[in-house]
Amino acid sequence: MREEFRAIKSNLQKRRQVVLSKISEEAPLQGGDDITRGDSLDIASSARDREITFMLKSRELDELRAVEDAIERIDRDDYGVCASCEDPIEIKRLEAIPWARFCRSCQEEMENRKTPGRMHFDVS
Ligand SMILES: [Zn+2]
Repeated sequence: MREEFRAIKSNLQKRRQVVLSKISEEAPLQGGDDITRGDSLDIASSARDREITFMLKSRELDELRAVEDAIERIDRDDYGVCASCEDPIEIKRLEAIPWARFCRSCQEEMENRKTPGRMHFDVS
């Protein structure tokens, strides 16, 4: 393992713990019996809470997946290389975004492609 990746890996492992504890803190909201009592307002607000919880969770689960994937790639010695152009990803970028899978230019290119209404990718 490259020396620089050692610190990144321990950051990723810490991050993983934080995300995991966030996910388990929110778990009690999953109980389903409160919807059977109370008036419609309560039901509406608890349904909304549920939705918000779900959104938070799915964001955290995405993050957890990205973090675990990065740890795995470090272990496999498959880390720090752009998944698109296979150039090494700058260490500064990895320190800022340890789960980054793409180098900055590939990432920017993908983000530009995703943004609707941009004209400079005109297809003739
Ligand atoms: Zn790249």
